Amino acid sequence: SFSAALERSAAIEARIATHPHELRMLTGDRPTGALHIGHYFGSIRNRLRLQEAGVEILQLIADYQVITDREVAGDIRGNVHHLLLDNLASGLDPERSTIFTHSAVPALNQLLLPFLSLVSVAELQRNPTVKDEAATAGITSISGLMLTYPVHQAADILFCKATVVPVGKDQLPHIEQTRVVARRFNERYGATFPEPGALLSEATHVLGTDGTKMSKSKGNTVELRMSADETAKRIKGAKTDSDRHITFDPEQRPEVANLLTLASLCEGTDPVLIAEEIGDGGGGGLKKRVTEAVNTYFAPLRERRAELAADPGFVDGVLRTGNERANEIAEATLAEVRSAMGMTYP
Ligand code: ATP
Ligand code: MG
Repeated sequence: SFSAALERSAAIEARIATHPHELRMLTGDRPTGALHIGHYFGSIRNRLRLQEAGVEILQLIADYQVITDREVAGDIRGNVHHLLLDNLASGLDPERSTIFTHSAVPALNQLLLPFLSLVSVAELQRNPTVKDEAATAGITSISGLMLTYPVHQAADILFCKATVVPVGKDQLPHIEQTRVVARRFNERYGATFPEPGALLSEATHVLGTDGTKMSKSKGNTVELRMSADETAKRIKGAKTDSDRHITFDPEQRPEVANLLTLASLCEGTDPVLIAEEIGDGGGGGLKKRVTEAVNTYFAPLRERRAELAADPGFVDGVLRTGNERANEIAEATLAEVRSAMGMTYP
């Protein structure tokens, strides 16, 4: 349940403060486009906070997950490169973290076989996030991969025995599924996997310019990599409402409240105060304020990103090293799993 997840998230917070070196973080993004400010406030800031605290970081680029809700992967190589740049420019330190693509880690994927034996088709069909995503993508016939990707995600999390998974709310059913897989494996074959917990952020649902969840496949984003002008253009086109007097009212005025929240996250001030300052300035005044706040906050990140983009050899090296390290971890875990299952041969 949500309240249990919240409690676990709070317990993880406490352990981050007292025992960061006992924790391991895994989180991931799909290479379906460049990262946006929703990712930044929803997840990346937590990644950086954990890195600062001394928690080991594993950052997954979930390339096989691209073909869950679409037929072909598109420019997967280009999109992987953008995710690397976005993560590095945000401040993920390649010396302290492992950034990898799961397609390059065969032993991770092999965990899917025993894990699939631990879940029932009926249980997979009940997953609310899979149902939502299929509906959003307009999919009427769910593929075997779409149905089972939460179990693949369990392999992503458990291959490295991650204990902390910073995510948005939409991911909670998958974390719960991962906990169930870990528990059932341990019951059947002996204690092998820890049960991970979600670390929830304060901004789990940033809206895009059309008023629905900001998503990189929907064209409603402000991308981290955008120029100041592109940002201004995107925000200018954002949906607001006809009331010129700006107030912070997330229930009644979700689009206006979302823009105020973005300004407040960038400025580190209270959204209610920002609303008062804009007063009768209307949507125009609000958008001007948000544009300035976003462009100021992300200027250093954008500068770093441009520098990194000029050195593709370095960026490729980060992925090569990350994939090597992920393979070492996955092979060790797979050996342990096979041995627990009695599959050790001459
Ligand atoms: P896609 O449209 O391709 O699914 P996405 O924008 O939803 O892309 P994902 O790669 O699916 O991005 O999600 C990566 C992570 O970012 C997840 O933990 C997810 O919960 C979080 N996230 C995605 N969109 C938002 C958002 N608008 N606000 C806050 N967090 C988000
Ligand atoms: Mg998504």
